[in-house]
Amino acid sequence: MNKHFDVIIVGAGAAGLMCAMEAGRRGRRVLVLEKAGRAGNKIRISGGGKSNFTNLDVSADNYLSRNPHFCKSALARYTQWDFMDLMRRHGLTWEEREHGRLFCEQGAGAIVDMLLEECTAAGVRFRYDCEIEDIRWKQGFSLYTSQGGYTAESLVIATGGPSIPRMGATDFGLRVARQFGLKSIPFKPALVPFTFPSGFLARVLKPLAGISLEAAVSCNEAGFREELLFTHRGLSGPVILQVSSYWNRGDPIFVNLLPDLDAGDWLKAEQGAYPNRHLKNLLAEKLPRRLAGILCEQLFSDQPLQAFSHRELAHMGATLNGWRLQPSGTEGMRTAEAATGGVDTDELSSRTMEAKKQPGLYFIGETVDVTGQLGGYNFQWAWASGWSAGQVA
Ligand SMILES: Cc1cc2nc3c(=O)[nH]c(=O)nc-3n(C[C@H](O)[C@H](O)[C@H](O)COP(=O)(O)OP(=O)(O)OC[C@H]3O[C@@H](n4cnc5c(N)ncnc54)[C@H](O)[C@@H]3O)c2cc1C
Repeated sequence: MNKHFDVIIVGAGAAGLMCAMEAGRRGRRVLVLEKAGRAGNKIRISGGGKSNFTNLDVSADNYLSRNPHFCKSALARYTQWDFMDLMRRHGLTWEEREHGRLFCEQGAGAIVDMLLEECTAAGVRFRYDCEIEDIRWKQGFSLYTSQGGYTAESLVIATGGPSIPRMGATDFGLRVARQFGLKSIPFKPALVPFTFPSGFLARVLKPLAGISLEAAVSCNEAGFREELLFTHRGLSGPVILQVSSYWNRGDPIFVNLLPDLDAGDWLKAEQGAYPNRHLKNLLAEKLPRRLAGILCEQLFSDQPLQAFSHRELAHMGATLNGWRLQPSGTEGMRTAEAATGGVDTDELSSRTMEAKKQPGLYFIGETVDVTGQLGGYNFQWAWASGWSAGQVA
């Protein structure tokens, strides 16, 4: 005999837990089916264990989606302030870091405990280590799982995106969408380090591994100014993760190593004042010495400033303010913090996340084609979309 619930939620991650507690509070009998042995694994590892759970400044501009307006309704109905209120009620506190990013002082696990407490209070039931084998619809949903059969009026898919497959992440959500005839946009790694051709890696990047500096990096329509990190595999750091979400294979990126300066004008002025000064020593005033050395070895030449023509100085300045680099790829889903793509937002109600073609079926969180920038935006989307579905599912 199949056990019956009002709502079945697949996935006990950020969005699924929020949806479960909200639906449970409305008196709905809610069951959460989770493949892993416990809830909230991605929350637990987020923000270096402190979870960057939201941001003080949230708007649709912080999200990538084929329809940039889709996320507005949910984000307006459940805001960062609502999540902070919830945390306050549980005695949790936070620390504000740069760019309005909020981190939980009691650690990421405390956020999972808070959501589970809310779910328990709302009577939500959980099945862990549960594999979904089949989903059918006939005047309601029937789920066949490794732990038996369940039926429900509403089915919420909250299985997240495919980043970090070693944690069990998959494209399950897109497969369910396809089964019900809904379009989706293929997942692509986002918030991920760049890799480079082996020659450039060996000559330029590997010798700089470990160096970090503040830089402005742009790609296509997007530009960010944050920390850049050279690694033995390529480029990383927050500024690189940010632009990676906007990058497509073949696109160059532009790195401004001296974002506060017109580097060409600066070099010319220094040439006038100190003609005998060597370029490397001058660059080392503003950049890490090892980086100044590699730039002189590989791109410029380390001569006294008077040896350069004004044209050469202007050219070097343009490189310092917009070093054109050509990534060969990204580190992929293995290390990506998120994925762009997901269920096409045209298929869903922006108010409830319900599929227009299949009443009773909902998609929330990262399975939907809404991807946040770095800074707590992905969790805010998970809370907001989960909350919205939880009001009606
Ligand atoms: C290393 C790392 C750090 C991050 N740090 C931050 C951060 O600080 N701030 C931020 O905003 N975002 C961060 N993110 C992104 C954030 O974790 C996700 O965007 C967010 O967790 C998405 O929520 P979700 O509920 O949609 O999916 P998830 O939280 O991934 O939850 C999906 C759940 O579904 C389960 N599941 C999957 N498939 C099935 C299946 N077939 N059957 C049953 N269950 C299934 C999974 O086990 C999981 O529990 C980080 C991501 C990573 C990888």
